[in-house]
Amino acid sequence: MVCHKLEEILDKALDKAIENDNLEAAEKYLNKEGVLTFGIESIYFEEDNSGIEYVSLGETYNNTIIKNENNEYEICSWGDWYEDIIRTYEERSGKKKCPNCGAFSDDRHACTYCDYIF
Ligand SMILES: [Zn+2]
Repeated sequence: MVCHKLEEILDKALDKAIENDNLEAAEKYLNKEGVLTFGIESIYFEEDNSGIEYVSLGETYNNTIIKNENNEYEICSWGDWYEDIIRTYEERSGKKKCPNCGAFSDDRHACTYCDYIF
C-alpha cells in the first residue's frame, strides 16, 4: 500500500473514532479500506498511571488511531507514545530507565537494581 494513501485512510479513520467516540468505528473503517488490523489493544505506563488504547496494526511504530491518556483520539504509533512518556517521566523524576532490567533507577550512571552501567 502506498504511504500517501494510508495517510488519507488514517485521517478518515480518525474522524470515525471522534464521531462515534470509540476505536471500534475506526477499526471497522480501516478494515473496509483493506487495512489489516489486529483488534483494539492497550498499553499502560504504571509509573505515570496513564495509558492508551489503540487499533493494532501489528507493528510497534506504525501510525494508527490511538485514544490517548486524555481520552482524545489522535494518529500516532504506540511505540512513539511509549518512548515519549518514558522520556517525560525521566526528565520530571530525574530517574533513568535501565535498558537491562527495565527498572527506573535513581542513579543516572548505574542501575541501582541490577548494577548495569549506563
Ligand atoms: Zn537494571
